Amino acid sequence: MPSASPAYQDLPSVAALLEAPFTLELQRRWGRTLTTEALRQALREARSAMAQGSPVPETDALIIAAKGALEGQFPRGPRQVLNLTGTLLHTNLGRAALSPAACEAMVAAAGAVDLELDLSTGRRGQRDQATEALLCALTGAEAAAVVNNNAAAVLLVLNTYGLGKEVLVSRGELVEIGGSFRIPDIMVRAGATLREVGTTNRTHERDYAQALGPNAGLLMKVHPSNYAIEGYTSEVSLKALANLGKHQGVPTAFDLGAGSLVDLRRYGLPAEPQPQEAIAAGIDLVTFSADKLLGGPQAGLIVGTKDAITAVRANPLYRALRVDKVRLAALRATLLAWDQPEPEGQLPTLAQLLRPEAEIRPLAEALAPAVAARLGEGWSVAVVPLESQIGSGAQPTTRLPSAGLSLSPRGSKGRALERLAQALRSLPTPVLGRITQDALVLDLRTLGNAETLLAALGEHPLAP
Ligand SMILES: *Cc1c(COP(=O)(O)O)cnc(C)c1O
Repeated sequence: MPSASPAYQDLPSVAALLEAPFTLELQRRWGRTLTTEALRQALREARSAMAQGSPVPETDALIIAAKGALEGQFPRGPRQVLNLTGTLLHTNLGRAALSPAACEAMVAAAGAVDLELDLSTGRRGQRDQATEALLCALTGAEAAAVVNNNAAAVLLVLNTYGLGKEVLVSRGELVEIGGSFRIPDIMVRAGATLREVGTTNRTHERDYAQALGPNAGLLMKVHPSNYAIEGYTSEVSLKALANLGKHQGVPTAFDLGAGSLVDLRRYGLPAEPQPQEAIAAGIDLVTFSADKLLGGPQAGLIVGTKDAITAVRANPLYRALRVDKVRLAALRATLLAWDQPEPEGQLPTLAQLLRPEAEIRPLAEALAPAVAARLGEGWSVAVVPLESQIGSGAQPTTRLPSAGLSLSPRGSKGRALERLAQALRSLPTPVLGRITQDALVLDLRTLGNAETLLAALGEHPLAP
């Protein structure tokens, strides 16, 4: 039993701890308030440990405890990570990797810009004017609008034409995308009544025609991007739907999701519906994401007829869903790249998508010995063939032949894989792989060069 009462007076004060050079670094990373609270907490814990007989802790130990608490409780994100998961457009990791031109454009747009000012006349301009012309050029549409993301684009379209009215959607297209986005739910929030048409596997033009009542506000198609119905199926063509809408005086919309601007078959990939096809078929409004196959910043793109886009812009929700100058700058740079002869040379996401296995495998072979050295004796590192996927609901069944490193513990597995994954996540630039049954796998499709991974792994042996 401790004989005397603990020497609490030998503990440093919070004020003294705040002056320590390393604490200043913590304040730069997390701010003064959270750092102060973490130091207080470390002192409280030290006092209770001392009450149990522990000695007075070193000042460094107190600061390290505070740092651990800050790191554990308050992420500093968005921080740069290395996405080696094998999923190109990983929603949890921010989807598309922006082009250098898009990054430059964002920096240039940080200060005052001609966002809603027409420099030629000095009058008020439209925020998404500069992107509108390019979107029209790339898709053949008459007009375009940009909002926060594709979910917002769908909400806005539904609310513009479906408020207090019926929106007709095929039963085969009532999809859920990524957990929280479900067409029927968004329909309710948009104030529209869902009118289901046809059956899950087969929907015919006559089904739409029969369901078209006097209160129909919109005919809508949704690309069921993240799943496929196979077998005895039938869906109505875009052309037939557009014609039906025109005939009955009801606007038509198509939610594409990923919306590729090039025909992916050109690169040996399965076809992905393109906005320009829907526009050519006569659909009034087409919505798609800017941060999926387009490879740009998060945004929702709406292209269509002049009348329909005018109606969308006149909706008060448009103001609530609009996008900021920084993203518009990145979007314009991304669209500009698509209008060049070889967009894959400028857009990292497209380049990663098209990267051949023959280019990835040598990278894996070059890296294997160095990664093995970083991991130490307990681990074996093998070059393995892999299959990457696109992600974000785009072409869920498409597999891209790839290569990478398989890291597996030599002895008993236990929780070794989880511990290694945790160690990789804790690096200054966290490295994210994928845990399979008996290995941690790093897919190198998305790794630019060997040095990037080696720099992230650092000099010291890693193995936990
Ligand atoms: C991804 C997707 C959405 C949602 O787009 P966000 O950009 O994530 O808001 C909507 N519809 C479809 C068909 C999609 O694939």
